[in-house]
Amino acid sequence: MDLREAIKDKKRIVVKIGSSSLTHPETGGLDYNKMEVLVRELVNIRNSGKEVVLVTSGAISVGKKAVHIKDANESIAIKQACAAIGQARLMMVYQKIFAEYNQVCAQVLMTKDTVNQMPNRENAHNTFSQLLELGVIPVVNENDTISTFEIKFGDNDTLSAIVASLIEADLLILLSDIDGLFTDNPRKNPDAKLIEVVENIDENIINMGKAETGSSVGTGGMHTKINAAMIATKSGADMIIANSSDIHILHRIMDGRNFGTLFVANKDENFRLADFLGDLNEAYNGSK
Ligand code: GLU
Repeated sequence: MDLREAIKDKKRIVVKIGSSSLTHPETGGLDYNKMEVLVRELVNIRNSGKEVVLVTSGAISVGKKAVHIKDANESIAIKQACAAIGQARLMMVYQKIFAEYNQVCAQVLMTKDTVNQMPNRENAHNTFSQLLELGVIPVVNENDTISTFEIKFGDNDTLSAIVASLIEADLLILLSDIDGLFTDNPRKNPDAKLIEVVENIDENIINMGKAETGSSVGTGGMHTKINAAMIATKSGADMIIANSSDIHILHRIMDGRNFGTLFVANKDENFRLADFLGDLNEAYNGSK
């Protein structure tokens, strides 16, 4: 079957949206229009009989905006305080819009310990299963307020792939400020071409991921998206990177249309999430 047609049959879908896609670039204030379209699209997917999880960023940027912090080099304590302020605000807005569509949502905040350690991982898995069985849309973020470096995922691209792996999702959609994976940085090289399908994440693809995306608000560049694609595809989920400039792209993707870059699932029975996270940590420590 055509790879895009097969998207129509996906049953458990994780959608990730980044801070830069939720806020106005001029002011950093929340873009309510975008949030409304996002929630409506998610509820519509849910209403078509599928299970949906949202992974959302924005806690720190919304908190900074609320207490008028403009500094980009704020201390960790300020960032964590801002996350506490911003996460509550973010959820308040999501709750309100989900309620307009009669959809129950729930907040799930995670750290690396949630998936690295037993019985935490099993508890998290059971909680997600129960929420999905109840027809709820879980809204997930990293627990930025309490997470220190040792237990931090650091970016929500990785977090969303981990959630997809944990709950055995069959599709992960990363909404980003770029159309997908390009052969080179399209903001610098006009000849850069969009890659529509990646069946195998080889050296070549990993190197393409090293070209920067140019986004300054979120933490995830293309490199973290390729890491996310490794986690998702090895865990048995397709992953799509798509442009969030028009969030209606979600139903177009679910209709089997050709948008963004599709990384095809390639389940690896030997893939262990905890080992992969350990390796990522080592790579990070080594580069510090
Ligand atoms: N968890 C962070 C926040 O909500 C964002 C991480 C990311 O953008 O990848 O502010």
